[in-house]
Amino acid sequence: MFDIQAIRADFPILNEKVNGKPLVYFDNAATSQKPQVVIDAISNYYSTINANIHRGVHTLSQLATDAYEVSRHTIQKHINAAHAHEVLFTSGTTHGINLVASGFTQFLKPGNAVMVSAMEHHSNIVPWQMLCERTGADLQVIPMDENGELILPAFDSLLAEGRTKIVAVNHISNSLGTMNPVKYIIDKAHAAGAAVLIDGAQAAPHLTIDVQALDADFYAFSGHKACGPTGTGVLYGKEAWLEKLPPYQGGGEMIKEVSFEKTTYAGLPHKFEAGTPHIEGGIVLGTAIDYLNGIGMDKIAVYEHQLLVYGTQKLSEIEGIQFVGTAKEKASVISFNLQGIHPYDIGAIVDKMGIAVRTGHHCTQPVMQHFNIPGTVRASFAFYNTTEEIDALVAAVKKAQMMLG
Ligand code: PLP
Repeated sequence: MFDIQAIRADFPILNEKVNGKPLVYFDNAATSQKPQVVIDAISNYYSTINANIHRGVHTLSQLATDAYEVSRHTIQKHINAAHAHEVLFTSGTTHGINLVASGFTQFLKPGNAVMVSAMEHHSNIVPWQMLCERTGADLQVIPMDENGELILPAFDSLLAEGRTKIVAVNHISNSLGTMNPVKYIIDKAHAAGAAVLIDGAQAAPHLTIDVQALDADFYAFSGHKACGPTGTGVLYGKEAWLEKLPPYQGGGEMIKEVSFEKTTYAGLPHKFEAGTPHIEGGIVLGTAIDYLNGIGMDKIAVYEHQLLVYGTQKLSEIEGIQFVGTAKEKASVISFNLQGIHPYDIGAIVDKMGIAVRTGHHCTQPVMQHFNIPGTVRASFAFYNTTEEIDALVAAVKKAQMMLG
């Protein structure tokens, strides 16, 4: 049973008014709102167990360390990783991708290739371009069609060149909503001897993730998009890969022994967690995941799909609307434009009515170049949104169209 009113009551911000109107929050792809249990858990950490972790014999330090490691186990279970030490705490998806791209420097040489897709977030393009610059490897790009679906025969042909060492693609596109066939991509890439990193920033908040069933080598996501605190994230890596990769940052916590002659590194996961981490963030990310699982990821996915279908149908009644991203398999992200009107102007007007949407290129400039547009208006729905809120958006967009048209 999906009790939307009870769920909404968990999110205090949904009672806020913005510009004198009840907040309608449709910018969930950028960051999610936080339930009261998450907000309380942050304050509770500082009120009861705040101490540095992995270092102290004193009780508070042990309590904080235990809570941090419990959270790691919660995340391990949530994504079905084989080992807790395959779960690295990061500051977000960007951090996770950079960690892997940096580590791959030693595996690449001129003539090798790194493959991304045409619909990546800048976070899953730029670190790989920097890696290519460092190593002389080439960047291959899986093209997409006019619906915003990857062209898989082209992917197969690029792989067949036999040069690809790692493929990095998103599970769900943040600007188009496309759900990519990542299992197909992973299996094909492995058959060609390439590793695969999945950018799960947009998938982790909405889908059940099973890294072993996917057979992903790396899976990165952000905590703040999944009801957790900002500055938190996870990089899953297969044990064998994490053993092979060099540390990303040097410092405290990541060492076994240090002398001026030679330093040896700690085992997993600490080799990749230098310095004092975002302790309360890591702990509370576990709280957020428990909260999501309390509702049920499957129920969340079904409900959000209903919002997608409803929103697409209602918005399509607006004259002159052009959807950007019309893949068959989509998450609850709707990008659109109105003929002759700049997306920014629509965003600014609906904001006056209390509705938060995102406008612009959504950190996917190559996607905008592909569709030859400056940007889109993006409404991204979460499980605490309602069809009534979608009705409010449609009415607001119609009003904006009248004012600007
Ligand atoms: N990848 C995708 C698909 C995203 O949507 C985002 C954020 O919007 C990122 C990566 C970067 O996430 P973060 O800024 O949390 O590191």
